[in-house]
Amino acid sequence: MRLLIMGPPGAGKGTQAAIIGEHYGVPAISTGNIFRTAITNRTELGERIKRIISEGGYVPDSLTLKVLIERLQEEDAKDGWLLDGFPRTLRQVKALDGELKVHNLHLDAVVSLTADEEAIVQRMLKRAEIENRPDDNEETIRNRMEVYHEQTDPLLDVYRERGLLIEVDGMGDVGEVSQRVLAALAERLGR
Ligand code: AMP
Repeated sequence: MRLLIMGPPGAGKGTQAAIIGEHYGVPAISTGNIFRTAITNRTELGERIKRIISEGGYVPDSLTLKVLIERLQEEDAKDGWLLDGFPRTLRQVKALDGELKVHNLHLDAVVSLTADEEAIVQRMLKRAEIENRPDDNEETIRNRMEVYHEQTDPLLDVYRERGLLIEVDGMGDVGEVSQRVLAALAERLGR
């Protein structure tokens, strides 16, 4: 099973990714989490990207791709995965296409969580207080939303045209949303 989960920042992708990954027995791989861990551990990568992330911009494709491809080569990702927060640019889509093709693999589906943006900005501000994420002050959050619209929104059309997109209402509590997502996936994939 190879899946993507997409949606605007703060739509709850990470939480849903963990639940879906668990359900299908595949690792939920988040480039955002990999980047945050690098920042926390003050690795060379972390030092290079911390400013970009704290300002809500995107990490350059070359770095993001390197990190993702390395992660996909780990043992637990051999039989499938769910990518959370990747791809985010058209170049990343192309790179992922290439990577899949080389291994004669394909995507099974792309879940798009839809959300009321003002509501999620408010939710992110609340989460910022609880989790103390470096990329969660109001200015950064607004910037992340803008960057998302410019760079990542167009990807939804790409996957829609390929017949892979499954849109799910991401508003509501975690359990409700995950039931919707799992039901939609089961209907589409028959498992
Ligand atoms: P996330 O946890 O997915 O919201 O990611 C947090 C931050 O990490 C984003 O705001 C970006 O700065 C960076 N990031 C994560 N994934 C990517 C990606 N695929 N391409 C570029 N930047 C990314």
